[in-house]
Amino acid sequence: MANLLHAPRGTLDVTPDQTYKWRHVEQTARSVAARFGFEEIRFPTFEYTELFARGVGDTTDVVQKEMYTFEDRGGRSITLRPEGTASTVRALLQNGMAGGPLPLKLFYLISCFRGERPQAGRLREFHQFGAELFGAAGAAADVELIELAGSILKTLGVTGLRLELNSIGCPECRKQYHAALRDYFKARESELCEDCKGRLERNPMRILDCKVPACKEIAKDAPLVLDYLCEDCKAHFEEVKARLDDAGQAFVINPRTVRGLDYYTRTVFEFVDEAQGLTVCGGGRYDGLVSQLGGPSLPGLGFGMGLERLLILMEAQGCTFPSAPRGLVYIAPLGAQASLKAAALTRTLREAGIAVETDLVARSVKAQMKYADKQGFAYSVVIGDAELEKDEATLKSMRGDGAQVVPLTPDAFRTAVCAATAQTKQEEG
Ligand code: ATP
Ligand code: MG
Repeated sequence: MANLLHAPRGTLDVTPDQTYKWRHVEQTARSVAARFGFEEIRFPTFEYTELFARGVGDTTDVVQKEMYTFEDRGGRSITLRPEGTASTVRALLQNGMAGGPLPLKLFYLISCFRGERPQAGRLREFHQFGAELFGAAGAAADVELIELAGSILKTLGVTGLRLELNSIGCPECRKQYHAALRDYFKARESELCEDCKGRLERNPMRILDCKVPACKEIAKDAPLVLDYLCEDCKAHFEEVKARLDDAGQAFVINPRTVRGLDYYTRTVFEFVDEAQGLTVCGGGRYDGLVSQLGGPSLPGLGFGMGLERLLILMEAQGCTFPSAPRGLVYIAPLGAQASLKAAALTRTLREAGIAVETDLVARSVKAQMKYADKQGFAYSVVIGDAELEKDEATLKSMRGDGAQVVPLTPDAFRTAVCAATAQTKQEEG
């Protein structure tokens, strides 16, 4: 029976002592994306299964083994999105965006679902920042996209990442390459896993990405796609490399990077953490995908950045996060009448945009001050009978470095508190 006190395996809660880190990562990604001219797109958490089968590719591990697929009440096959590219393409076609201004630059922050064996940096529900660029076939776009990923990572302070680059060619050069791969793997067919035996005819390149140790071992000596690139693909790859050099973006060629999804053509890349061997970001060009999903011939490229992995790296590298948001003012009432007054003043300050709290559980002033201290409030005001009587109270710095008398009539209170606290930076949650 399911344990009600345990979330399903491979999922994570993010508690308030951690959410501010997530927000920092998300806000950084958003603002860097905006600088590059990428606009946000949102799409549903689930789609018809067929979209991923066709879009991601039905010979991939993702589609063959990892999807959360179920029948809805109408008997339609539905899948929780395992990634964002197929949905983005579906959404742009459905909304007529392919006919709008090009190139089209989109980003998203989404949860993804894959039924994998959970381990560090591998979850069943995980989160991605993704970016997709449509309508630009030249190498300038490849490099702009890679620079976007690199710039987000750099802005977050992540270091020690290796950019691995490869080209897996176009359908033209792939014909010859597939033939060479088939020849190579045919000779050792009996040693391949069952999935790879199936892949041999349909998509032999997928064998290169198989995680089964025996297949990995055999794949080590397989022919390399770089040796089979046509002239156009070669020229494209050369320009990508030259432009990366120009951008000061270091990279290494990894001729074995083929990526896990079927739709890639030409450039593929990954940002890999050297210390932990984690891939934080993977992407590439997919010039055939839009037409494959029923749209016009529109080149595209994109990447997905795993946010859990990114946070693991940031923690491991001691990256700094802006501090967690704190309330500015705590109003501590003593007694029923003071409680009403405190509630009214709290309301007044909140309307003025100040983060303020007051007592909700009729605690002693001492207990309230302990709470206010723990929560990190910058100022406190105690309101008891004497303060009500005089219609004024003392606004104190919680750090003990200042106090001043403030009136308790709402407008005057607001004016006085705003003036007194203006120097203290209020962090928005
Ligand atoms: P891997 O080879 O590690 O399985 P992948 O090729 O399946 O990665 P992509 O589909 O390219 O990954 O997804 C892009 C990014 O999303 C990855 O680089 C990674 O950071 C993140 N990611 C993918 N799968 C998971 C997962 N199960 N849990 C956490 N993050 C993931
Ligand atoms: Mg995977």
